[in-house]
Amino acid sequence: MHIGDFAFHRPTTLAQACSLSRELGEGALFLAGGTDVVPDLKRRLRPATDLISLAQIEELRGIREVDGGIEIGALTTHAEVAVHPLVRTHLAALSDAASSIGGHQVRSQATIGGNWCGGVPCADTPPASIAGGAVAVVTNGEGEREIDAAAFITAPRVTALNTGEILRCIRIPARPAHSGTSFQRFTLRKGLALAVASVAVGLEVEGDRINGARVALGAVGPTPIVAKASIGVLEKATATDEVFEEAARAAATDAQPITDLRGSVDYRREIVTVLTRRALRQALGRAREGAMTGGGER
Ligand SMILES: Cc1cc2nc3c(=O)[nH]c(=O)nc-3n(C[C@H](O)[C@H](O)[C@H](O)COP(=O)(O)OP(=O)(O)OC[C@H]3O[C@@H](n4cnc5c(N)ncnc54)[C@H](O)[C@@H]3O)c2cc1C
Repeated sequence: MHIGDFAFHRPTTLAQACSLSRELGEGALFLAGGTDVVPDLKRRLRPATDLISLAQIEELRGIREVDGGIEIGALTTHAEVAVHPLVRTHLAALSDAASSIGGHQVRSQATIGGNWCGGVPCADTPPASIAGGAVAVVTNGEGEREIDAAAFITAPRVTALNTGEILRCIRIPARPAHSGTSFQRFTLRKGLALAVASVAVGLEVEGDRINGARVALGAVGPTPIVAKASIGVLEKATATDEVFEEAARAAATDAQPITDLRGSVDYRREIVTVLTRRALRQALGRAREGAMTGGGER
């Protein structure tokens, strides 16, 4: 299938890439791993006059520790995120989300930046990052700004990025003591399938008391959803099966699913309940395990 005609640009710095994008305007697309862009070009879903490859920009690579938290460069592949020890200890939910994506080939090519910037409602790494309180660090080549992970995707395939802005990295804050996270997703088959629903949870506990909770839902709304009703049930409550059940039911009311090929509205709400229950139990287990060993998540 012919991919179409376009000019190909290979800037080596963020400043060059941002100014090229501003100069070339709407018809210019950034290219990271290309696992969304190339199929879209082949299917003529997006007209492109220019592709601006990000591959030569070293500033977009690598995972590093910063101020007790971590920064994950936008060009980091899902395969790298899945196995990196810093990601595992700071935000296990994100390791698990990255390792659930596609198959080996997709994970080795597709990037975390592309997963966020595609703005697809069923993308797996944004909800997992919300559970860890992440922010997107965005540059226009001259300065940077931060966007809360929950505000980054604003509508299906639309993000808070302005023309000429690039997502530089995902910044995950220092992990609070006695905290644990979990990412759960349900697919219609084991491999190479998109989520029918996904749930990511972050819990901060002191003994049985829940001091802080984050619950994010994927694939059950136009954007990743912060499950406010569910969080309301959890915060300052005691971590019991009854509270987790109530929070799981509340998450189903937070969801805004649609009926499509992968499931109906009612089915998706039921799946959200099941996944939230599982995620809460795993996050609590990880928080307690971390408290016992004095280490990060496993
Ligand atoms: C077979 C298959 C299976 C898949 N399975 C899953 C799955 O299970 N879960 C899932 O979440 N996704 C899945 N995907 C979707 C896709 O692989 C991911 O969304 C991937 O992370 C996109 O990353 P990329 O580097 O390939 O992005 P690209 O295709 O290069 O870019 C995607 C979009 O982001 C923009 N962009 C990329 N990087 C930046 C940046 N740093 N700054 C600004 N804009 C940028 C591009 O212009 C484009 O609009 C699958 C795809 C395929 C083909």
